[in-house]
Amino acid sequence: MKIAIIGAGLSSAVLCQTLRRLGSLHIFEKSRGIGGRMATRQSAAESWDHGVPCFIARDPAFKQFLQPFLDDHSLTEWQPKMTTLSLEKKPYKRAWFEPHYVGQPTMNHWIKPIFAGHPMETQVDIQSIYGEPGHWHLAANDQHFGPFDWVISTAPLTPTSALFDRFNFSLTARYQSGFTLLCRMPTTPSWDRAVCQDEVIAELIVSKSRPGRSDSNTLVAHAQDPWATRQIEAEPAMVERALTDAVEALLNTQLEAPKLHRWRSAKVIEPALNTHWLDPKLQLGACGDWGGTEGVESAFLSAKALAEAFVSDGK
Ligand SMILES: Cc1cc2nc3c(=O)[nH]c(=O)nc-3n(C[C@H](O)[C@H](O)[C@H](O)COP(=O)(O)OP(=O)(O)OC[C@H]3O[C@@H](n4cnc5c(N)ncnc54)[C@H](O)[C@@H]3O)c2cc1C
Repeated sequence: MKIAIIGAGLSSAVLCQTLRRLGSLHIFEKSRGIGGRMATRQSAAESWDHGVPCFIARDPAFKQFLQPFLDDHSLTEWQPKMTTLSLEKKPYKRAWFEPHYVGQPTMNHWIKPIFAGHPMETQVDIQSIYGEPGHWHLAANDQHFGPFDWVISTAPLTPTSALFDRFNFSLTARYQSGFTLLCRMPTTPSWDRAVCQDEVIAELIVSKSRPGRSDSNTLVAHAQDPWATRQIEAEPAMVERALTDAVEALLNTQLEAPKLHRWRSAKVIEPALNTHWLDPKLQLGACGDWGGTEGVESAFLSAKALAEAFVSDGK
């Protein structure tokens, strides 16, 4: 059985691990690498984890899934020195209350071995699916792939809905948009992660406080959700300037080489009614973090639910 999987984030990794013995899996990813929103941008000596900064694991099955990666240290607990910053009040320390995990040396590093051995096309933005059950083809610009027995999308719900539109796919979810500023500071602050009481900036993260990261003074700043929602269509240069000004005011310092990243779909704020979607007649499926509001853990649970349904109804 040949299965095409669209996307190479955590949901896709979970499918690869659970479906590998059922057939050959072929992955299609629109960006240059794997990880999706579990993202790290790297230059020669510097890195910025500009997507999910860290995640929690509460579900026993998710904890079990993570354990081998914790054992080989490609995933590790991060215990940052926390502070609170605002323009009006003095900083004060905050407590860290439950284990938060990060990949090391990059956010996506730990899932790479799961994809090993499966053919993967990167920089391929799948725009349509054509054919029939058992004989599906994928189209991306002038490239065509297939045939596949099954197609499963792990893309966020908006691109998945566009791909499956003509197959009565009716799930909807609401995502929070976001902006991340990647920059460098002249000096290292005494804290690792700052929660900001500010209209523009939600939090600041010092990259080198994170296990296995380089020694440079890189900083990641995440915008406040309501502010990001209002600015989502604004001119990127203007958004970058506003974020830079806000961070400089909070830190009372000048930033170097700020760069902006916009996330149209960052975190799910209203999940879909179902954890996943699987149609054994059409031989199509979809899963992703849209199955819940717990981010990475929801992505895992959605993919796990789809894989279980696939094993019982799909093959
Ligand atoms: C700034 C930010 C902060 C976050 N904070 C947290 C947090 O604190 N805690 C938490 O748990 N989660 C957080 N999240 C959310 C978390 O990152 C996601 O829930 C999780 O990574 C989703 O995994 P996924 O595999 O479902 O989707 P993704 O990681 O988005 O993977 C889907 C993949 O599909 C690809 N794709 C999309 N369309 C196509 C197409 N047409 N063709 C081919 N490929 C396609 C994408 O490029 C992507 O690689 C945050 C996310 C962001 C961006």
